[in-house]
Amino acid sequence: MKLSDVALKVLKWFSLSVLMLANGALAQTTPRQVAITIDDLPYADARPCNEHETVANTKKLLEPIRAAKVPVVGFVIGERCGNLGPEERRDLLKMWMDGGAELGNHTWSHPDLNRVPLEEYEKEILATDEYLHHTIGPLKVRYFRPPYLHDGATAETKRLLQSFLTRHGYQEAPVTLDNNDWVFATAYRRAIKENDAALAERIEDAYIPYMESIAAFFERRSVEVLGRECPQVLLIHASRLNAKMLPTLLQMFRERGYTFVSLEQAMNDKCYRTPDTYVGRKGLSWIHRWGLARGKPIEPEPEEPVWVDKLSSQPLK
Ligand SMILES: [Zn+2]
Repeated sequence: MKLSDVALKVLKWFSLSVLMLANGALAQTTPRQVAITIDDLPYADARPCNEHETVANTKKLLEPIRAAKVPVVGFVIGERCGNLGPEERRDLLKMWMDGGAELGNHTWSHPDLNRVPLEEYEKEILATDEYLHHTIGPLKVRYFRPPYLHDGATAETKRLLQSFLTRHGYQEAPVTLDNNDWVFATAYRRAIKENDAALAERIEDAYIPYMESIAAFFERRSVEVLGRECPQVLLIHASRLNAKMLPTLLQMFRERGYTFVSLEQAMNDKCYRTPDTYVGRKGLSWIHRWGLARGKPIEPEPEEPVWVDKLSSQPLK
């Protein structure tokens, strides 16, 4: 081998290493962790719930979760799928539990705390608490997720909600990897309803790169705000889109070096003891909240493609 060949090999090796570092999977020295949380159970695409579609997509969504033993918390809207009988609704929640999911409380009718009085909101939480205990038995329900991540537009509301949750044995479930998966899911529902397979595929193809851009954005912001990558908490919805795409989504996280942990394990990390002092009308990622508490302004998140946004905002026929 000539000296120039050796030099070329070294150069190739060097540029490959730089590429791999740039990819991000190797740049992080500690293993990345993510807890998966799924909102709007039993079914996010309910308009109202079609039993066959709901059961089929719930099964599909739970398959990769069960197969890879991915810990998940599913947040239940008490009245969701109310057009089905009580037994059908109970069976749907049982499917989630049999799939290994822990159930959390996501209010009775998905109200927005920015728009309803706190007393009414608290009744909504209690109604779902009672419903869950009546339906699934004496299991502990310990996590609450506020719809739209709105948890108090005034300091007083925020404080009162937190003390209400503590009194009733609840913790608010944080989200770091906040995203607009529901925009893709709405566009996807339209494509399926209109029997447009090519459009559905185009949406599927755009979804994972978008979610990866969200992961990359909050990985970077976590380092900028807290000096390292905290275990992340992902929020996605129990939609037909995620039923189809979850295996690919999980694979994307694996390729970025993630392992899947429970919400409890993620929240045991010191990052989650950073104060969340945000008071306002926005539903923010906890990384933005921690940043604001440390005087670091919010940076704009990656956006979904305009064509997906447009598709989701037109009314469904
Ligand atoms: Zn929700």
